[in-house]
Amino acid sequence: MVGLLAQVIMSEDTFEFELPKVGIIRGVKPRDIEVIGDKIVNVRVRPNPYSNTYTMEQLETAADVAEKFGSGKVHISPRHNLEIPEIKNSMLTEALKQLFASGLQAGGTGTSVRNIFTCSDYCPNKVRSVRELGGMVSELFGDFPLPNKLDISFAACPSGCSRPYNVDIGVVGVAELEVDGDRCIDDCKMCIEACPVEGAITLEGGLNIDSEKCVKCARCAGACSTGAIRVANTAFKVLVGGKEGRSVIFGEEYSGFAGGYEVIEIIDMVIKQYQKLAEEKYRKKYERVGEVIQRLGSLEAFMHN
Ligand code: SF4
Ligand code: SF4
Ligand code: SF4
Repeated sequence: MVGLLAQVIMSEDTFEFELPKVGIIRGVKPRDIEVIGDKIVNVRVRPNPYSNTYTMEQLETAADVAEKFGSGKVHISPRHNLEIPEIKNSMLTEALKQLFASGLQAGGTGTSVRNIFTCSDYCPNKVRSVRELGGMVSELFGDFPLPNKLDISFAACPSGCSRPYNVDIGVVGVAELEVDGDRCIDDCKMCIEACPVEGAITLEGGLNIDSEKCVKCARCAGACSTGAIRVANTAFKVLVGGKEGRSVIFGEEYSGFAGGYEVIEIIDMVIKQYQKLAEEKYRKKYERVGEVIQRLGSLEAFMHN
């Protein structure tokens, strides 16, 4: 997928950037690369394909570029892009070349599928890994042009550190539990201590999990040493239509237990429906996914219109 930061022309052993004019950087909105005065720009970068895991080389390159061409500072955006402020315009070509060579390109820009990011795969609370699926979604849909921006966030458990509940498409790792009351022999209550939801597990009259309250995080299964609560299966919950910003919308659950390929199919469907249904709000600004759903009355209407 061609990046938005600049047109890159590749030849056998060299590449050149077709640089934008000062203040008008091709394909990038002013808020993504802002002109300060007329000689300095802010550059926001992220790995290509989209990811919020940076290699040491990329971090060292960003630090080097900030030191040599900017103000010596790097800001980490809420969506884990690196923002390198105050790069001198005369040095922009060199800065962009260095960033590009290390696998970085413009991050979170324009009206497209953007900011595809995951929570940490190193976390002990992980129910199901999201890194690989996030990478596949990035390869398949990253930078796909749309009427407005569309963010996709993956969290490996329902704690949702990567904020999957208020993005356009949120994907959350969840567990299906298997409960065997006969194995609950010592009434140790470790499961209740581990459970983040008050009242989801009760032991009076036998081990019971309230399916209405349970968020499928599997912490009880990890705490139970007798096998009375076990993980039978893991999958993903998919939420659609959330957004942050001046008005916040929480995504609505479209699927409670989808496999990896089903998640990709749902994302494909949401993107196609959004392309078809989004209307202009005002001054060439188009509705976000959640706003289309609100106008149509339901997620069901959005998905099957
Ligand atoms: S969402 Fe869950 S698995 Fe991911 S970082 Fe947060 S607590 Fe860990
Ligand atoms: S999976 Fe277990 S720990 Fe998590 S909310 Fe459900 S009952 Fe509680
Ligand atoms: S942790 Fe296991 S054995 Fe202990 S009370 Fe809970 S279900 Fe029973």
